[in-house]
Amino acid sequence: MSRLDLEVAARPALTAAAASRLVREVYGVEGEVTELGSHQDRNFLVRAADRPLVLKVANRSWGRPALEAQNAALRHVALAGLGIGVPVPVDGLDGLDLHAVEVDGETLLCRLLTFVAGDPVMSRQHLSRLVVADLGRLAAVTSRSLATFEHPGLDRVVQWDLRHASEVVAALLPSIADPSRQGLVADRAASAGERLAPVADLLRTQAIHGDVTDDNVVGRADSAGRVRPDGVIDFGDLMRSWLVADLAVTCASVLRHHPDDPFAVLPAVRAFDQLVPLDDADIAALWPLVVLRGAVLVTSGEHQAQLDPDNTSATGPLESEWRIFHAARAVPFELAEATVRAALGRGLATRHERAHAALESSGRLFPAAAAPTLVDLSSTSEALDRGRFLLHSTEDDVLRDAAARSGSACTRHGEARLTRTALDSATRPPTVALGVDLVLPAGTATVAPWWCTVVSSTGSTVVVDGPAGRLTVRGLTGAPEVGEVVPAGGTLGRVGGGTVVVQLCVEPGLEPPAYAEPSAAAGWLALCPAPSALLGIDVSTRSDDGSDLMRRRDEVFATVQEHYFDSPVQIERGWRHHLVDADARSYVDMVNNVAAIGHGHPRLADAVHRQLLQLNTNSRFHYSAVVELSERLVALCPESLDTVFLVNSGSEAVDLALRIAQAVTGRADVVAVREAYHGWTMLSDAVTTSLYDNPTALESRPEWVHLASAPNSFRGHFRGPDSGADYAREIRALVAEITEAGRPPAAFICEPVLGNAGGVLLPEGYLAAAYDAVREAGGLCIADEVQVGYGRLGHHWWAFEMHDVRPDIITVAKAMGNGHPLGAVITSRAVAEAFALQGPFFSSSGGSPVSCVVGLTVLDVIADEGLQENAVGVGDHLVARLEQLRHRHALVGAVHGMGLYLGVELVRDPETLEPATTECAAICDRLCELGVIVTPTGERANVLKLKPPLCLSRASADFVVDQLDRVLSDGW
Ligand code: PMP
Repeated sequence: MSRLDLEVAARPALTAAAASRLVREVYGVEGEVTELGSHQDRNFLVRAADRPLVLKVANRSWGRPALEAQNAALRHVALAGLGIGVPVPVDGLDGLDLHAVEVDGETLLCRLLTFVAGDPVMSRQHLSRLVVADLGRLAAVTSRSLATFEHPGLDRVVQWDLRHASEVVAALLPSIADPSRQGLVADRAASAGERLAPVADLLRTQAIHGDVTDDNVVGRADSAGRVRPDGVIDFGDLMRSWLVADLAVTCASVLRHHPDDPFAVLPAVRAFDQLVPLDDADIAALWPLVVLRGAVLVTSGEHQAQLDPDNTSATGPLESEWRIFHAARAVPFELAEATVRAALGRGLATRHERAHAALESSGRLFPAAAAPTLVDLSSTSEALDRGRFLLHSTEDDVLRDAAARSGSACTRHGEARLTRTALDSATRPPTVALGVDLVLPAGTATVAPWWCTVVSSTGSTVVVDGPAGRLTVRGLTGAPEVGEVVPAGGTLGRVGGGTVVVQLCVEPGLEPPAYAEPSAAAGWLALCPAPSALLGIDVSTRSDDGSDLMRRRDEVFATVQEHYFDSPVQIERGWRHHLVDADARSYVDMVNNVAAIGHGHPRLADAVHRQLLQLNTNSRFHYSAVVELSERLVALCPESLDTVFLVNSGSEAVDLALRIAQAVTGRADVVAVREAYHGWTMLSDAVTTSLYDNPTALESRPEWVHLASAPNSFRGHFRGPDSGADYAREIRALVAEITEAGRPPAAFICEPVLGNAGGVLLPEGYLAAAYDAVREAGGLCIADEVQVGYGRLGHHWWAFEMHDVRPDIITVAKAMGNGHPLGAVITSRAVAEAFALQGPFFSSSGGSPVSCVVGLTVLDVIADEGLQENAVGVGDHLVARLEQLRHRHALVGAVHGMGLYLGVELVRDPETLEPATTECAAICDRLCELGVIVTPTGERANVLKLKPPLCLSRASADFVVDQLDRVLSDGW
């Protein structure tokens, strides 16, 4: 390895001034020159007049052929037109692209390359699944292109060539000062080497980039504001090596960002495999190579830090390189291989197929027992409704109930158990059962399913090794002694009084957990197969990772009906202010203002169930529920608003309110506020002015819609607490102008808190002045309370109450039905009668008995459970804690709203208020991973919208703020 030692020489000494001279003299390029970081070279950014360039001055250990190879490879990849950005060599004044220059008596080789613009992926603390997949795709694209690249400069010994990793680690190991760390690296590198040895000769070799990592990949924001990697820089590690090493290097770099979630690499592996299919040898080699990459990074990083302690490019990343190593070494090789095979749909490794075959021909473990009844503990289990999944005893209760009915019962293998979820948890809990639990009659004989050896027998647990791997059975009495060989059909004991647990593992060296975290579940399940053959009943759970369901959705459901998040989680259960996905991972639901009384409310479910059995018809019939609901609504309104229309949605309510106003006034024109959303029907869409919901909203408004400014005292054109008067003046002028132009308004429609803009409270005086101006012109005032009303603000039932005004028409929906389609228009008798002149109004299910019972029950629950008061207590607490975040994190520009309708507005600059749109999207993605569902809102998609069910607990509110604090502190 003597040539290796040469390669870790200190960087060439060259100042920015000298570099500036160099680019002028050699390339004829003028421009400001600043140094960029590098492990071993000196790199400079050159801001030339026409474009940015990079001057690379090579470490003296580089030979000419290697640098020539890099230039040739860059041109090769660029010419392939792969749709990715790569640097391209720039010729000097002499027409050459590699130059030897004398600096302080030293000959240095330098090159000038084009600069690939974009945000470095490295700067992101956390990589989303999409970004990880992009990294894998970029690694595959470069590998595929370089497969046809040949150059004599490829054949050199490089310390980053994983073919030599064991030697590199051995040579540099003494640089690790801490003996325990040194021992650990030596040990794991040795095991990785052993694991690699049988397949090493089968691995494909070619030219590879060798460093498609977070450090060398840059990206640009996509249309949703997410930075997506699309450029690869720094071909400094170009070499001939194993093709799969390219992927291993990429995977290792992902671990830097996901030290606690090693299988976060899987999207990269899948993306790579799609373009460059991996064979069995590649898959077997992948994790050993990831471990070796980690070992090379730490040994070489420690070595370089010793050699060049002032080089922050070498010393800075050391800590994160250790993170990579530890994340990689923590995963058993068998598990990693099985997980990758499962992720790529490759089936079992050959040696595991044999164990699985032996399992298929096993005898029964409990031959005397009848086949047990299977119980369902998944997110969709009916047995777990009404919050039952949260009780400690539930698993046992469900099993025992089933056993009481049929004699014996068994849980399902591979099932993500809802009973194992954890509320308010930043980490995904291990929920996937790798064994099964049974309730069988006490005393049931338990026998060996094949010839086996007892390897452990402690208390009620017996562990035996046989042809199908290792079998563990808990809950027995009279188990045989360790070392005993038990023939097929020989006794393993008898069932005790409690639950029996059965678990298999085809890799006897592994100690599988009882439950796997969902991202590792596919691998664990391949290693811990379902004991169906032992029990005489199929106990396996058939599930997919959600991608098939997404594909089916995209096939049949119009995609314009968007979903939250690019890679959405599959939500199958709701309980109070929590949502739970198919993997039984819980999230605090901060977006479902519709589910005002919470998800899965038993009282509402029971009331609907009963009413469906009793009667469901339409309001042309006469029944009590429609009267009772209308009376209750009117009782919540100012005195003059005494008449109710019942419809099915907010859009319908707004549509009807506008029609009523137009009919009553005999006018068409409506004044609507900018940045608002009011619905999707023709009329409600006409007054929807938000560019977030419709990018062409401003150009495409019908001529009868007149736009008033959004009275946003934070970022509107009048700002500050006194801006109400300015906005009032403006809207008065607008009303006067249209009236004079012969188009007096039929109505003015406005949310009394700017919900769609992010919960922005209206400045004082604005609404009263706007209502006065519109009324003076003969128009009606519509308060759209669909989002912000109905007790959500805590301190007020209706949002308009904040402003001491009385609208002519109120629209309400969402919370009113807690997710059941239900909306209302509430107005005065006189207005309603005037509309009646246009003929009768009828909605088939608006005001149906079931809808009315829903409406009544929701109102009862809000009152009985004190939910409006909760919106005050928890809402005010949330505001106070979010305000603390605003003081600590520059990105938080404002905390808008009141009660449980809040918006956290993110800005890049407190002066310009430049919206932090990409940050907002990334923070929402990250929060979802941490167990909080929040989405961006507002015209600029830079506001975190917080509008949870009104039953949000203080503990969950604290959890949400803690996670947001963590993301704002650690990065996203
Ligand atoms: N008005 C406002 C203020 C809204 O926020 C919405 C829905 N987001 C609507 C009306 C339309 O309600 P729906 O989706 O029930 O039709």
